[in-house]
Amino acid sequence: MSPPTVLVLGGGIAGLTTAHALRALRPDLDVVLLEARTELGGNVRTLHRDGCTVELGPDAFLNRPGDAEALCHTLGLGATLLAPDGASAGVMVAHRGGMLPLPDGLALGMPRSVTQLASTRLLSPLGKARAAMDLFLPDARVADESVGAIVGRRFGREVKHNLVEPLIGGIYGGDLDELDAAVVMPMFANVRGSLIRALARTPRPTGGSPMRAPGGGLDGVVRALAESLGDDRIIRGVAARSIARNGRGWRVTVDGAHLDADALVLATPPDAGRALLETAAPALAEQLGTFRLRPALTVVAAFARDELTLPRSSGVLIPRGAPEPLGALSAVTFVDRKWPGRVAEHLTVVRAAFRPASAADWIPRSDDAIAAHALEALRVLLALPAPRWTEVERFEAGTPSPTVGHIDRAARCREAARALGGLSIVGAAVDGPGLAGCIRGATQAAAAIVAGLG
Ligand SMILES: Cc1cc2nc3c(=O)[nH]c(=O)nc-3n(C[C@H](O)[C@H](O)[C@H](O)COP(=O)(O)OP(=O)(O)OC[C@H]3O[C@@H](n4cnc5c(N)ncnc54)[C@H](O)[C@@H]3O)c2cc1C
Repeated sequence: MSPPTVLVLGGGIAGLTTAHALRALRPDLDVVLLEARTELGGNVRTLHRDGCTVELGPDAFLNRPGDAEALCHTLGLGATLLAPDGASAGVMVAHRGGMLPLPDGLALGMPRSVTQLASTRLLSPLGKARAAMDLFLPDARVADESVGAIVGRRFGREVKHNLVEPLIGGIYGGDLDELDAAVVMPMFANVRGSLIRALARTPRPTGGSPMRAPGGGLDGVVRALAESLGDDRIIRGVAARSIARNGRGWRVTVDGAHLDADALVLATPPDAGRALLETAAPALAEQLGTFRLRPALTVVAAFARDELTLPRSSGVLIPRGAPEPLGALSAVTFVDRKWPGRVAEHLTVVRAAFRPASAADWIPRSDDAIAAHALEALRVLLALPAPRWTEVERFEAGTPSPTVGHIDRAARCREAARALGGLSIVGAAVDGPGLAGCIRGATQAAAAIVAGLG
């Protein structure tokens, strides 16, 4: 009897990890991965230019709960893992035409004590007094709240806008008033009353940043996953066009041909998944359509090192609604500070990440126009010389933005897929939001598929 076949649609980190884990659990499985682009990795895109290694998409994964780090060890990359540089870990926030340091030791922008806020100029005296009211306010918690609702109620508008929004809004690209608190700040799920008191009770994380990345760049993970799978199991540059049932299995149509499989893994962005499932599973397709990935753009600019000295900080966060030209900018990374050793000695590299409100406004603009806008925005913050070179990268389905009710929606989606038999959904929309979540979700999905195949 021939071994069961599993077809994985999408060669981002989620699809590649699922395929790798399937083969690791059951080496006899016939696993094939289909990727629409010619490059693997999805959002993971590493630039190697002029002796520099710069991430255009994600630049590190969270080392909690540990699945991503474990995967790197399995792939032989464990010894290369780095944390961002501790000495420059301090982050600045753009504020009134300048930059001010974010107070040390905040938890997602929230204070662990009132004194932590005493000296920051990111809050007015009134803003600090309002934040301290968290200690005394009665509990008014309701189910299914947004991050913005909780933070605004406990700490007031200034902490929400000047401390929490730049951090969380930058990571998730969304509006704090829409983001699901249960996903973004799960440590507060059962907290009633003061968040400061709750934070003060939790041990302060030790050991520096919880973020990790292979020294040579995240594309090393993609390459190693692809190698472990083998070239003959990967079809690149071919997009799935539709999905249909084929007896107890699935049939995927590609241009002028079809592929049959006993089990199917959907590891595409949710919009693509919705379109693929529209006929075969309209209810699931509709559920997939409720997940949001926001467009993102990054611009990397390299300068002669002797012409630009960066502040001693890993970068700058920009609050939503900052005046133009900062408007769509979410974060600036000083790459030589955050990842020393990744930038050639003669260069200084700055990365600007944008969260455009609409992909249609930004994605079609020329690289030159986008780079010019980025430099104009960066000049508000830094005295920039002319760059040696710039690179622009576009992510139409970029940053996962889990909105209120996300956890239930994701569980219902997974359950609906399971009920169809032999269909799994993985990736940033349902497992994310970051690489660590995608890797964990993919590993769990692979175990469930293997169990299901018997
Ligand atoms: C600018 C930016 C910065 C980020 N920073 C971080 C960070 O620092 N840390 C972190 O943890 N996370 C970060 N993220 C989030 C992280 O990148 C994502 O969570 C993760 O990469 C998503 O992986 P995925 O496999 O689910 O999806 P993707 O990477 O989107 O992969 C999906 C793949 O499916 C393919 N596909 C689509 N349609 C089809 C089809 N019809 N047939 C076949 N293939 C198809 C696509 O081409 C793509 O390759 C960042 C994201 C962005 C955009």
